[in-house]
Amino acid sequence: MLNKNLSKLSTETAFSVLDRAGELQKSGKNIINLGIGQPDFSTPEHIVEAGIRALRDGAHGYSPSLGIHALREAVQDDLSKRYGYCPPISQIQITPGGKPIIFIAAMIYGGRGNEILMPNPSFPIYESAVAFSGAKPVFYQLKEESGFAFSADEILSKIKNNTTLIILNTPHNPTGGVTPPAEIKKLIAGLAKHPNITIFSDEIYDRLVFNTPPHSLLSYPEIQDRLIILNGWSKTYAMTGWRVGLGIWPKSSIEHADKLGINYHSCVNTAAQFAALAATTGDQTCVEEMRVAFKRRAILIAENLIGIKGVECQMPGGAFYAFPNIKKLGVSSEILQVRLLEEFGVAGLAGTAFGTYGEGYLRFSSANSDALIQEACNRLRKLSLLYL
Ligand code: PLP
Repeated sequence: MLNKNLSKLSTETAFSVLDRAGELQKSGKNIINLGIGQPDFSTPEHIVEAGIRALRDGAHGYSPSLGIHALREAVQDDLSKRYGYCPPISQIQITPGGKPIIFIAAMIYGGRGNEILMPNPSFPIYESAVAFSGAKPVFYQLKEESGFAFSADEILSKIKNNTTLIILNTPHNPTGGVTPPAEIKKLIAGLAKHPNITIFSDEIYDRLVFNTPPHSLLSYPEIQDRLIILNGWSKTYAMTGWRVGLGIWPKSSIEHADKLGINYHSCVNTAAQFAALAATTGDQTCVEEMRVAFKRRAILIAENLIGIKGVECQMPGGAFYAFPNIKKLGVSSEILQVRLLEEFGVAGLAGTAFGTYGEGYLRFSSANSDALIQEACNRLRKLSLLYL
């Protein structure tokens, strides 16, 4: 008999669409991939060099379970400088990508009888990991009319005695929405009445903002002792395949997070950590160059989508996703996802891949060249002919 909770684990549609797009490409079809959320840029040269150098210098062995000291020190220094505060190094954990922090948090704060609040639509791993832990995922809706920002009042209204954790994500996957600091402040003020609830802030896109300065929950001293931060190198430095991410834990849970990490992955690829160290301590021009390119493409994709009859699209505030509303086309998101890939040669994702409130939307990643984004949008113009 297998673990009953296995049936609660779900997956990421992005990976199955990536596989199918690959198959179609192999069979000779011209596919434009706006499906997966990874920068199309190569990892900057000085970072790659640092990884190679580390391998040549003998970084072949295990390293400390929480990460090499120099990297945790660099993270502490960087976040303190950028956000005015970062907990001590002893509370920083380096993980294989940012994703494990979600699973580890679900294992620590989940379990049968507990409830965990999370956005919907959202990164599908939140619900999957929480459900697997035995806890109940409870959703708060991100609405298009609020720019896909969360509503502090809605979150606060869903808190119960058994709520242990609230998951927040801004800039947001899949909508590109950014929650304004005023709403974050309102939530934090409301949480003063709930001192036992921990706040999980997924800030993997913190530096990919287009019209507002980067913002972190680290800047709120009143929640410092009950805050988990997820961040990492994947999106900021085009390093998705290196698998280096980080979690910052409350003092009370770092020991559990470390034990879970040791049970699962022992430590992170040592050479990749040296590459991440070069990324954090090196020249940040590459980050700004990529941010500017993503902003330009976000405008390009949203303006093109707005120009298609029957499609509406909010201008993304950050991350690299556009989340157009296709309700007027009168077709389900999933049917459209399949049709777009198989017939139009455009890989995008159904909004429902991110939760039930994603029905009526599609997610397109702007992590592709301007020319290919334009070509994909040209192909999408046929949509109104087909459905209206
Ligand atoms: N959190 C969000 C919101 C994401 O979109 C992603 C990746 O797509 C992650 C976390 C995980 O990032 P990583 O590739 O570093 O594991």
